Amino acid sequence: MTIETTTRDSELAKELLKESGQNPTLCYQCKKCTSGCPLSDQMDLTPNQVLRALQFGQLDKVLRSKTIWVCAACQTCTMRCPQSIDIAGIMDSLKVIAQRRGIPSPVPTVPLFVKATMRNIKLYGRMHEATLTAEMNLRLKQLTREIGLGKRLMQKGRLRILPEFAGYPRNLNSVPTRTPAPNSVAYYPGCSLHASSAEFDESTRAVAAHLGIQLDEPKGWLCCGNSAVHWHSKQEAINLPLKNLALIEKMGHTAVTVPCASCFSRLRFAAHDVEENPDLKDQTSRETGYTYQDGVSIEHTVDTFIRMVGLSKIKQQVKKPLAGLKVACYYGCLLTRPAAVTGSGHPEYPMNMDYLIRSVGATTIDWEAKTDCCGASHSITQTDLCLDLVGKILGRAKEAGAEAVVVGCPLCHLNLDARQLDIARKTGQSFDLPIFYFTQLLGLALGLPERELALKKLLTDGQPLLAKKGLL
Ligand code: SF4
Ligand code: SF4
Ligand code: SF4
Repeated sequence: MTIETTTRDSELAKELLKESGQNPTLCYQCKKCTSGCPLSDQMDLTPNQVLRALQFGQLDKVLRSKTIWVCAACQTCTMRCPQSIDIAGIMDSLKVIAQRRGIPSPVPTVPLFVKATMRNIKLYGRMHEATLTAEMNLRLKQLTREIGLGKRLMQKGRLRILPEFAGYPRNLNSVPTRTPAPNSVAYYPGCSLHASSAEFDESTRAVAAHLGIQLDEPKGWLCCGNSAVHWHSKQEAINLPLKNLALIEKMGHTAVTVPCASCFSRLRFAAHDVEENPDLKDQTSRETGYTYQDGVSIEHTVDTFIRMVGLSKIKQQVKKPLAGLKVACYYGCLLTRPAAVTGSGHPEYPMNMDYLIRSVGATTIDWEAKTDCCGASHSITQTDLCLDLVGKILGRAKEAGAEAVVVGCPLCHLNLDARQLDIARKTGQSFDLPIFYFTQLLGLALGLPERELALKKLLTDGQPLLAKKGLL
């Protein structure tokens, strides 16, 4: 690598340190970050070159690079860095600083997406996919962008036409604190489950009720800010999830179950960051009149089912074992990475979802892409990048012999399910691989009626496969 020397911009360096809290001088150029990065071939500076440039004070070069906008925040680099440098966090901070300083992005769709997201959350308190896409299309002057996907979602009853207003309480002291029932847990669905991933919400509620778990959805929950808020402001990326945790704690709950991997990650990041630096709670305390006491444990719903019911009890309740069904469990990035935040014992090769799905009789395969990034954070800003990543994941699942993929994230789901048609149009490659939520397969095995599992709402039809296996 050729290193051009430029004048050190100490003001910018201080800004980066303040924003990210990371010290780039710790990097000794082992390149583990770059070798694990799914998008390094699309970048003009590889992740290790970004760190090297920062060490040489070449912040301007980095802020103008394509790299920071191509980074999908998949956390692989952060997870693998032997020096514990949060490289993904540095990439986020560089995006924030570049926007603050008005430095034009070589990938203008990303800052546009950030702005549209922030406006959406400010207006409604939640993300409204239709308005967000419409704003992007208007600003890009591409009025028919994603129109095909919109139509397909509408046909399946998965497009929310009107926005939903969150209605977060003005002051948390007005929220009564109650002792929750022993079988209840707070339920944070997140925006996707109230819109394009309604089938995940429906099947999660149906399975939880069947297993005797009472899901208590907080009234007024806010968007956790998943895809884009951490690309706008670190404080706001903490404030939104923390407001939800404070609301849940004020209701009297000590645990929240989160079906969306991306929301799970944002809530966990906020809890982790305020534990390390309690001053980060100040804004939330001022805005809510209540100071969060770190009293809520955040679980993904796979883990909640295992903790509250147990694999053997779930197995005992199976009415229709999924024998003969061979699936690949896909965890994506954010359920397990980085382990310091998610608490995952096996961030590179998790097994919890596999154990759950095996407990109801299906076979889960060993495969190498279970924690690869599908690029969902770029799904509407850099769709072609996304199609490549999705194609690789689906290809690996098929090569390993999977008949379907099972997920626990609405963003992974939409990407792997809906983008199959786009891949076929672009490359001629047809996967025809159904993508199920883990709750849909659990529900099927537990004998729940098909309508409660919303199998008809999937874009890649999974019913023929299930019928062939005698499961429908
Ligand atoms: S993994 Fe860490 S130490 Fe190695 S090159 Fe990347 S940032 Fe530097
Ligand atoms: S977060 Fe993922 S995409 Fe971004 S630099 Fe790290 S490995 Fe690459
Ligand atoms: S959708 Fe899932 S795999 Fe894809 S980027 Fe998000 S968490 Fe990662």
